[in-house]
Amino acid sequence: MTENKQTAGLNSKLPVMEAFYTIQGEGHFTGNAAYFIRLGGCDVGCVWCDVKDSWEAEKWPLQTVSQIVEGVAEYKSKLVVITGGEPLMYPLDELTDSLRAKGFHANIETSGAHPLSGTWDWICFSPKKFMKPRDEFYETADELKVVIYNKSDFKWAEEHAALVRPECLLYLQPEWDKSETMLPQIIEYVKDNPRWKISLQTHKFMQIP
Ligand code: SF4
Repeated sequence: MTENKQTAGLNSKLPVMEAFYTIQGEGHFTGNAAYFIRLGGCDVGCVWCDVKDSWEAEKWPLQTVSQIVEGVAEYKSKLVVITGGEPLMYPLDELTDSLRAKGFHANIETSGAHPLSGTWDWICFSPKKFMKPRDEFYETADELKVVIYNKSDFKWAEEHAALVRPECLLYLQPEWDKSETMLPQIIEYVKDNPRWKISLQTHKFMQIP
């Protein structure tokens, strides 16, 4: 158990890498103004990770849940996205309880590699090949978002789609550096398999965080 996990709980402190108000660029909530809270720490180890800086939790300052929630209050959108790193390396019940008590909509982006905690309005489950996801995410995910890095990922995506609830939305998203090769294949795949939709990292096109 890490130091950060030990301090989580009532009056928990969480390592906050950054928190910022922007536009959600990916998945079902694309285009919505949202406050992002990026928690530091991740042990999943995706080779193509674009936030490798987040991996070491100890690099980032610990903030209490009240400090974190205070930061959200000054913005107009009620949508909050908890991301990482892998945010579920920490128990998040106190954070989601505090956010939801203040009327915020609590979304999470997770690889599903750690136990589910917190009460969420929306779970975006993005499993990674590098660490097996836990079973509870198939039963709870609102959105399955699979990053496509190479051709074999389509089959891998279907294996996960077969396990989620029927109402769970399905998205394929090209890995940013492989977009030129993989996006044309994703387009054809979605035309043939219309249960899936395409998610693009539109914040990168807009050059916003
Ligand atoms: Fe990076 Fe996310 Fe993979 Fe962790 S789970 S290594 S933060 S892409």
